Amino acid sequence: MSTEKVNVNVNAPVAVSKEEMTEALRGNDSAKMDLLLNLLLGQKERELKEQEAKQRGVDQQDFTARQESKAYFQKKVTDQSRCSHMKGNGTRTPSQAIDYNIGTHQYIDGRFEKKCLTCKAKWEQSDTKEFFVRNGRKFHNWTGFGWDEVSRWPSTNKITRSEIPAAGKPESVPTSEDGTELPDMQF
Ligand SMILES: [Zn+2]
Repeated sequence: MSTEKVNVNVNAPVAVSKEEMTEALRGNDSAKMDLLLNLLLGQKERELKEQEAKQRGVDQQDFTARQESKAYFQKKVTDQSRCSHMKGNGTRTPSQAIDYNIGTHQYIDGRFEKKCLTCKAKWEQSDTKEFFVRNGRKFHNWTGFGWDEVSRWPSTNKITRSEIPAAGKPESVPTSEDGTELPDMQF
């Protein structure tokens, strides 16, 4: 049994030339072992490098996505804090009535929400000019207006409501007077 140390070169190139291979195979067991280990380690190293490169790509994508969403959020905040929330911004003549571009929507559960249709800023009934309240948490209100302020703004936009499903009502097929079903009847 040889006590000779096996020289393992982890930086060995993966490709071994035909000459090197022939030379190594002609050598003693130790040289063959060196070759084998270098081949295996070279392959392992290449796999690790590929994994690392892949992970770097994923990290970079993640980082880019975070930066993009951060930039998107920041732009939204800037737009919403600068928006006049009025219709025809800058083009209104003094004789024109003040008309805010605020849409009011009522959800099925009765909650109201106001939204500027220009900058998409949203206000819920619990919002103050200092804070937006979302899911029980307070966030700095970058618009500087709360529900009370926004509710006082005149707007000619119509209120919208979420569709209330006809609960418990079976789907009925229209019938004619003599009871014939008319499934294709349009109303
Ligand atoms: Zn706005």
